[in-house]
Amino acid sequence: MRGQLSRLFIVALLQCAVASAQPPTGPTATILLRNGHIYTSNPNQPWAKALAIQDAKILAVGDEAQLARFRGPRTLVIDLAGRMVMPGIIDSHIHFLDGSLSLDQFTLDDAYTIPEIQRRIRAFADHHPDRQWLLGRGWLYDAFKPSGLPTRQILDEVVPGRPVVVECYDGHSLWLNSRALALAGITRSTPDVRQGDVVIGGVVRDPASGEPTGVLKEDAMELVRRVIPARSREAKLQALRAGLKEANRHGLTSVLNASGSIAEMELYDTLRRQGELTVRMTTALMMEPELSEKTLETFEEGRRRFHDEWVRGGVIKAFMDGVIESHTAAMLDPYSDDPKLIGSLNYTPEQFRRNVVELDRRHFQVITHAIGDRAVRTALDAYQAAEETHGPRDRRFRVEHIENVNPADIPRFASLRVIASMQPYHCYPEPNLFHIWARNVGAARLPYSFAWHDLAAAGAKLAFGSDWPVVSLDPFIGIQNAVTRQDAKGQPPEGWVGRQKITLEQALAAYTRDAAYAEFEEDHTGSLEPGKLADVIVLSQDLFSAKPLEISQTAVLMTIVGGKIVYRSNL
Ligand SMILES: [Zn+2]
Repeated sequence: MRGQLSRLFIVALLQCAVASAQPPTGPTATILLRNGHIYTSNPNQPWAKALAIQDAKILAVGDEAQLARFRGPRTLVIDLAGRMVMPGIIDSHIHFLDGSLSLDQFTLDDAYTIPEIQRRIRAFADHHPDRQWLLGRGWLYDAFKPSGLPTRQILDEVVPGRPVVVECYDGHSLWLNSRALALAGITRSTPDVRQGDVVIGGVVRDPASGEPTGVLKEDAMELVRRVIPARSREAKLQALRAGLKEANRHGLTSVLNASGSIAEMELYDTLRRQGELTVRMTTALMMEPELSEKTLETFEEGRRRFHDEWVRGGVIKAFMDGVIESHTAAMLDPYSDDPKLIGSLNYTPEQFRRNVVELDRRHFQVITHAIGDRAVRTALDAYQAAEETHGPRDRRFRVEHIENVNPADIPRFASLRVIASMQPYHCYPEPNLFHIWARNVGAARLPYSFAWHDLAAAGAKLAFGSDWPVVSLDPFIGIQNAVTRQDAKGQPPEGWVGRQKITLEQALAAYTRDAAYAEFEEDHTGSLEPGKLADVIVLSQDLFSAKPLEISQTAVLMTIVGGKIVYRSNL
């Protein structure tokens, strides 16, 4: 008896020793983030100290003691030293291929005078003697007083021999030198681009001579784009690799591409197959004024071929109008700086409604660029018609930009469950906004400009993005502007149209869980919860204790996408 007992005792002891040397039973983390200040964007558990990742997904979120059991011999343990962690940023409106291609072009984003603009373009031309076409972007209307539009002569003075084409920062106009106009065959007799009676693309002309001044608006941009040599597939892939790095460096883990094609989706798919895709890509295909069978088949193809968590279709984008700065946004009342101008719609309301109803019948998600208050109303009317025709459904239709909205339409976002997809850095208070944008809109409509607060207060879901390359894809400058609407010096003191500011909580929701909802991905992304994809970022500072005007200085120290560390710096 005695001998048997002691043998059992020894066996039990041995079992204990084996158990403590072995990994815990149950799942083991591949990555364990500990000692952090983790903002989950999950309202039921907003903060945590530790997060366990197993392969592509989040295993657990909680405190150190709870999560210690997931630590195994091969777990990568990262001590965050109290740093803030949050879900990966979802940019709800981006032009990823254009942005990536722009990375090796010149930029005029912060060039405010003609001499500075000319200096940069001359320097770029000197640096790139091999480039046949000199392409750049980012000119600001306010640099060209008083008209707000540049001329070909400014470019001719610095680059007479090679064609130069510069995209406006908003992407809605191109500026050409004389050589580029000649190669595109644009002369005084080139007509504006029309659809029916409506001018949808203007060739800007000198009022005295009738000669083109060098600016092409909206659809007229195609007149030169078709003669610019296309980039090869390999060059595009190479640009995308740089774009992905740039996105991860700023904490982006998912985006919605607001203007894409099947060919572009194939590029993302190629990168995915090669293990190089490090940002989840939902890509919208473009609606044309007339929905042909062929177009509809392309939409169906996009959705059929691409529908997983890395490359997704199923979204259709429409352009309802242009932009306020160049008077192409469709307004309910005339522009305040020129009562002859009111903007125009790219669709008749009937035509647009018909298209939306057809796309709704096929269960596509429709997103509509609408900047002026009339364009916003026309989009909402069509969305309402879809609901009246086919009854309630979880559609998540969206309006993009909404720079100005009539107060009567604000409650319609919530009642129709339409998502307000907006870009908070677009109303950064700088001269372009004051002198051109605000002048054109006028005092009466100003209170409903970039009306994040009013839309949210009326129950609308906000989804935020950058519109890169229109502005930087850095989300922290967007978050800062969402909560301050002030420049770096804290002006204006109450913020520009300060009542439309929102809280940091609201801004973060619009870049995380509500952005995930806006692309039907809320079961997989947008918050840090067990079972969701492990898209996680570590920040250099705590956004909640940072001064509001210092939020934009936030650096991303680590970006994890699908459980893989894709960017790491100083951590
Ligand atoms: Zn856009």
